[in-house]
Amino acid sequence: MVIPKSMKAAILVELRKPLAIDEVQLPAALDIGQVLVKVHLSGICGSQLGEIDGAKGEDKFLPHLLGHEASGIVEAIGSGVKHVKPGDEVVMHWRKGLGIEGAPPKYQWRGQKLNAGWIATFNEYAIVAENRVTAIPQGSDMEVAALFGCAVTTGFGVIENNAQVRIGESVVVFGAGGVGLNIVQAANLVGAYPVIAVDLFDNRLVLAQDLGATHLINSKTQDAKAEIEKIIGINNLDHFIDNTGQPALIEMGYQLTKPQGKVTLVGVPRKGSNINIYSLPLHFGKRMSGSQGGEAVPHVDIPRYHNLFNAGRIKLSELITEKVSLESINDAIAKMRSGQMSGRCLIDMRAQ
Ligand SMILES: [Zn+2]
Repeated sequence: MVIPKSMKAAILVELRKPLAIDEVQLPAALDIGQVLVKVHLSGICGSQLGEIDGAKGEDKFLPHLLGHEASGIVEAIGSGVKHVKPGDEVVMHWRKGLGIEGAPPKYQWRGQKLNAGWIATFNEYAIVAENRVTAIPQGSDMEVAALFGCAVTTGFGVIENNAQVRIGESVVVFGAGGVGLNIVQAANLVGAYPVIAVDLFDNRLVLAQDLGATHLINSKTQDAKAEIEKIIGINNLDHFIDNTGQPALIEMGYQLTKPQGKVTLVGVPRKGSNINIYSLPLHFGKRMSGSQGGEAVPHVDIPRYHNLFNAGRIKLSELITEKVSLESINDAIAKMRSGQMSGRCLIDMRAQ
């Protein structure tokens, strides 16, 4: 078994600080149910920005690795692994798929223990649990494959499993980042109308239109609530999907939806940021619920969506607007925060 002694990785050492790019040592052998993957490309998801910010509160796992969607090639497998083999092209995903949930790897950094969960992808190699990888056909587009780890499966799952949008229903997607754009695309795919994309940045709205949004609202320059009411009427919206986690916007979505409408929460709210709603409409059919990664089932969903991509029925290459080296990850994160980054930015680790 060929496990490299060390690799380059982006490490979260301290909250709200740039990631440290440094050499990390790998364990000498794989444990039961673990898979060693040479990471090719990793997405940067909004939830990692939240982790860096400490959005969910104190982080007792520091220092640790990050990242939860990627593509790569299996280099070695631990005992008991039977769903992937060395040489397989795989999607790495944070939702559980088939196989064993092997223990998180024991990496070392500067002589100390370095934490990583069942998956971490901002690193050249990754030891992940078998149930966090799904094999894809040989010769797949590895750039697009990285998006199946979260952005696509979450976005499509939100429409299919959480919101359960029906043909002709109206949908507002608030926040057009990597996941939001896939929600827009999936809403369009299932025949929703209108599909209204709202975001603070025009460059992201342009991409939303390309992916099927029928109406665009820039909430920095326009009154989003008034504009939405102009399009669908007052209290007449079927679905409000929030990707921001911001209480004021969730409350607005609750008001915009019709008596039988549905608010689906996708964005992670900051710890302690509470919403304030009049709950009586919930007794009469209004619904509000949270999504956990679109409730995606990787080994079932990835092949379905992959088929659609191969048939030219969905756009995914268009979502990849930038590729950066691991060394440039902090610059890429800064660009995501400032809204300069449309779609998904991938960390490309193939050159090493
Ligand atoms: Zn994600």
